[in-house]
Amino acid sequence: MDNKTPLIALMGNPNSGKTAIFNLLTGMNQKVSNYPGITVEQRRGNAQLTDTCAVQIMDMPGTYSLTPESLDEKIVAQQTLKWLNGIDRPAAIISVVDAGNLSRNLYLTSQVMELGIPVIIALNMMDRVKNKNQNIDSKELQKILGVHAVVPMSAREKWGINELQSELLNVITKANIEVSTHIQMEIPKEIEKIISPISEFLYDKNNHDNYITNIQALRIITRKSALELYSECKNLTGAEIKSLTLLRDNVAHEIDELGLNHRILEATLRFEMLDNALKDHTLINQSEIKNQSRSERVDKILTHKWVGPLIFITLLYGIFQSIFTWATIPMQYIDSAVGYLGNYCVQLFSPGILRDLLVEGIISGVGAILIFLPQILILMFFMTILEDTGYMARVAFMMDKLMNKIGLHGKSVLPLMSGYACAIPGIMATRTIDSWKERLITIIVLPLISCSARLPVYTLMIGAFIPNKPILGFLNLQGLTMVLMYFLGTVTAMVIAAIISRFIEGKGKSSFVMEMPPYRMPLAVSLFRQVYTRGKLFVINAGKIIMAISIVLWFLASFPKPDSDEESFSIQNSYAGKIGHAIEPVIAPLGFDWKIGVGLITSFAAREVMVSTLATLYNVEDEGDDFVGITEALKNEVNPLTGLPKYTPLVALSIMVFYVYAAQCMATFAIVKNETNSWKWPLIMIVYMTGLAYIGSLLVYQGGQMLGFT
Ligand code: GDP
Ligand code: MG
Repeated sequence: MDNKTPLIALMGNPNSGKTAIFNLLTGMNQKVSNYPGITVEQRRGNAQLTDTCAVQIMDMPGTYSLTPESLDEKIVAQQTLKWLNGIDRPAAIISVVDAGNLSRNLYLTSQVMELGIPVIIALNMMDRVKNKNQNIDSKELQKILGVHAVVPMSAREKWGINELQSELLNVITKANIEVSTHIQMEIPKEIEKIISPISEFLYDKNNHDNYITNIQALRIITRKSALELYSECKNLTGAEIKSLTLLRDNVAHEIDELGLNHRILEATLRFEMLDNALKDHTLINQSEIKNQSRSERVDKILTHKWVGPLIFITLLYGIFQSIFTWATIPMQYIDSAVGYLGNYCVQLFSPGILRDLLVEGIISGVGAILIFLPQILILMFFMTILEDTGYMARVAFMMDKLMNKIGLHGKSVLPLMSGYACAIPGIMATRTIDSWKERLITIIVLPLISCSARLPVYTLMIGAFIPNKPILGFLNLQGLTMVLMYFLGTVTAMVIAAIISRFIEGKGKSSFVMEMPPYRMPLAVSLFRQVYTRGKLFVINAGKIIMAISIVLWFLASFPKPDSDEESFSIQNSYAGKIGHAIEPVIAPLGFDWKIGVGLITSFAAREVMVSTLATLYNVEDEGDDFVGITEALKNEVNPLTGLPKYTPLVALSIMVFYVYAAQCMATFAIVKNETNSWKWPLIMIVYMTGLAYIGSLLVYQGGQMLGFT
């Protein structure tokens, strides 16, 4: 995509069909990336308008207005402020409008129209309006608003897209197209006077006309964040920011004294303008009302005080269960296919380092990536359905109060729950959380939820060391220990979320008006494309990192090679073994020896590798004897100093607690790097989780010994 291709920005409210239109315009020619450093998606793609003319389309994050509230809205506001100042201006803006919710959607459109860039309104979801035997006069709407064009269309039924393309062509081929005069809001003289100190300040900094300057002033009055954004964009000095802030506070105060509310001043004036402009026309038809009432009736059940959560939990259980059960079959296939490929290569090539690298490093690395794919695809499939039907907005509404207490969002529930299966699809599923901050916190605590890869470790330790005896008559000590581990992870995740939400900058969505989109049937094409894109994103981006780490781990576990061929190689002589020995003093206070240390290192490939590593270490030691079961081997291990068993229930507990907390899965951090677009957050997570693991185990082991447990 070169710089000469004209840029077209696609803007609109969440759920208005931007992505669907983006997909129709660009086909598979798209690139998904994040805005630098944060977890908001940026999608760009090329659209071919004619054989010789292509444009680049940019799908902007969904937003209700240009007043920045959440971090994601800030991105949009920031961009538009830049455009206003002549930086990276797109050639045209497609404002996507849900025809069934005209007045609310036009709010953003009317703000966008003020940027001085030609606006084409994509009047989407016309199929729904038509289904009710109603219509919207697009020519009339175009005249009233004064936009370049209004194109009625349906992304679902795929009509109107050609007209949209030809309007685009129209805009970009006409040199110096004049931006039509659009409707303007009427700012009462009285208010204009009150806000004039700010307008004058801004006027000196800008070269915009009076109207735009007044609007910028209104926006700065609405929210402090708009002021911050403006200062950032204009590079204001500290002193200037201070005086602007002072001006703003005074003006806001004066407005409130008039009996108005400075926070909704722009909104009030703007809605007044839209209502006045549209009221004499039969544009806003009955469909809006009817449509809403049907959704409302369904909502009575789905968001009912206790029926709602019950339905949600049932759904959640179904999805969660299907990740476990449906995914296991393809996972087994992938596992055996990778094993088969490995064996095939073993036969094909002669022994040597290259073959080992290929089989044990690269092919097993590919396996480590692909094995997650079934879970990711299944979860993404369900998430997209819940999101696209509009149900997710209801879930968010129901769970929000509860989750807000710990700094999370109602939409965090599903990703967190899927963390019990695997953190990776859960982390990818956080993409539906609109607020950057809440999404980040969800990602940060998600790996604390005990995933299925911890299960083999828990099972081994509990089976070997926790007595199978009843407690309180009906409970069982082994089962109870298992539950305790899951509980520990979950509660810690909640506590950490509550703590870090105080430290992470940025606002949640506290002042956000919860959007309830009408229920819709998801578009199959759009659904599968989203699932496909997520899968591809994981395999390619996270895959690179996982592959690299797999090779490093392979190297650590298989080198240095013994000098003579007679000597058999074992992991205890490897670099991994050496590191295990080296860290023994550090992990000794936790009750761990070097063998556990080696296991901790190899676990970085995947937690369950701990079990096979221990098995290898013990079978190597007991050379010549019969194969010893790992459980027996652990029980028989004796401390040479004391003559007592080395691994005790207390050590087992300490190991389990370590596994509850430890940052031990490279794939997780690869995906966090991918989703947050920086190494900062995965590194912070590795540090805090390792710290928690160490302190947790230390408390268990040392505390337990003090209390006289063994
Ligand atoms: P975005 O949030 O603006 O990107 O919206 P999406 O493209 O994800 O669309 C939101 C929902 O509306 C999805 O369920 C789409 O399938 C659906 N949708 C998109 N366009 C149309 C349309 O023209 N008609 C109907 N009935 N539904 C649509
Ligand atoms: Mg979208």
